[in-house]
Amino acid sequence: MSLLVVGSVALDTVETPFDKIEDALGGSATYISLAASYFSNPVILIGVVGSDFPKQYIELLEQHNIELEGLQIVDGEKTFRWGGKYHYDLNVRDTLFTELNAFQNFNPVIPEKFRKSKYVCLGNIGPDLQIKVLDQIIDPQFVVCDTMNLWINIMKQDLLNLIKRVDVFILNDSEARLLTEEPNLIKAAKIIREMGPKILIIKKGEHGALLFTEDTIFSAPAYPMEMIFDPTGAGDSFAGGFTGYLHQTRDLSPENIKRAVIFGSTMASFCVEKFSTKGLEDLSYLQIQDRFREFKKISHFDESD
Ligand code: AMP
Repeated sequence: MSLLVVGSVALDTVETPFDKIEDALGGSATYISLAASYFSNPVILIGVVGSDFPKQYIELLEQHNIELEGLQIVDGEKTFRWGGKYHYDLNVRDTLFTELNAFQNFNPVIPEKFRKSKYVCLGNIGPDLQIKVLDQIIDPQFVVCDTMNLWINIMKQDLLNLIKRVDVFILNDSEARLLTEEPNLIKAAKIIREMGPKILIIKKGEHGALLFTEDTIFSAPAYPMEMIFDPTGAGDSFAGGFTGYLHQTRDLSPENIKRAVIFGSTMASFCVEKFSTKGLEDLSYLQIQDRFREFKKISHFDESD
């Protein structure tokens, strides 16, 4: 019963009002796998990099027990690169460049022994590739899918075909509005759930996340942070913590799904505290549990007598 993750593995160049970093470890699959690695063992990563991908990054992933047999290393190719710049309002990000490189001709192949994975997290890459991965999994039990505005704009039909087949769909508020052309998030959520996914999570950046299921809406707060260094990967870390926790507990009850949303938010909060993947590299399970409990404190209240 393993957790299989697919998505981008990248070298990111990120500029925030505080600092700039070049060719740092990034990518949706990287953040998801690192966040999930604190709950699931091993996490199987499916992706592609070029021969320029630094050895120390491979070692870092291996140290977190991330299984890399499905990570293709293409000789003579360069690794996917993404550049982004954040404004003073860290919710506003400009993509400066996207170089597909090794991703251009990526044909994801799941090694035979991982095709029976029961838990699957389809991290942000083209929905055509996410479908190719899902097609290779034999009888998955729980499929989580993340996306981004780019795919809604240029591959909407593929995305619609994909989300019919997933259990949980995660996207942010502006993406939900873009997908449905509906400004009201509650109405947008209803429309998206009718497209297929039984469970929908709409992330609202520093304002938390909303979980929509058949009969509930659950609002998770964001952790009140004084210092956010680099928001890159927050959404992916959320997906990793969420899926990793559900995989670890094997409990898909409504109450446990709410807890998973809080574990997702917990991992996102650690991610943004440092540049690149640094905030996810050296955590202990105790630290994660402590922060999880703080989430409970900040949103708990009693009815008056
Ligand atoms: P997030 O901040 O959660 O949206 O994720 C940021 C990560 O997504 C970065 O590490 C990028 O390398 C990666 N990324 C950016 N654009 C794309 C894309 N078009 N396809 C796949 N991954 C991407």
